[in-house]
Amino acid sequence: MNTPLPSAFTMFRRAVVLKCPLCGSRRTFIRRWLGRHERCRTCGIEWHREQGFELGPIALNSVFTFLTLGLGMIFAFVATAPDFPVRELTIGFMVAAVALPLLFYPFTNTLWLAFDLQSHKPGEAELARAAGAVA
Ligand SMILES: [Zn+2]
Repeated sequence: MNTPLPSAFTMFRRAVVLKCPLCGSRRTFIRRWLGRHERCRTCGIEWHREQGFELGPIALNSVFTFLTLGLGMIFAFVATAPDFPVRELTIGFMVAAVALPLLFYPFTNTLWLAFDLQSHKPGEAELARAAGAVA
């Protein structure tokens, strides 16, 4: 494959809408919401590109979750001051702490693949293997 890789902006734009960062297809490695195919079903790029690859999306998911919870807490405390509805806020943030990682899950997978493809560009051999896997 002699075509150049998409730009970083293109890859991240595709990843944000759950498309394959490499080929832009919706038939990617995302399987339902919480599942994953081994490779993109269109271009064949393998999702698990190296040992420990899954730690990247987990870290990204944690950052997004804590950032969202932190901003939500600041907003909720400022909006309800000085009479904080402690029980309601606690229950709300407990539910959010479980729901947000599930919500972010597929996005962190595509975003991490985009980041990894930018920082660790696929070689000719990997692209040939990918093309062979979907041929
Ligand atoms: Zn693809």
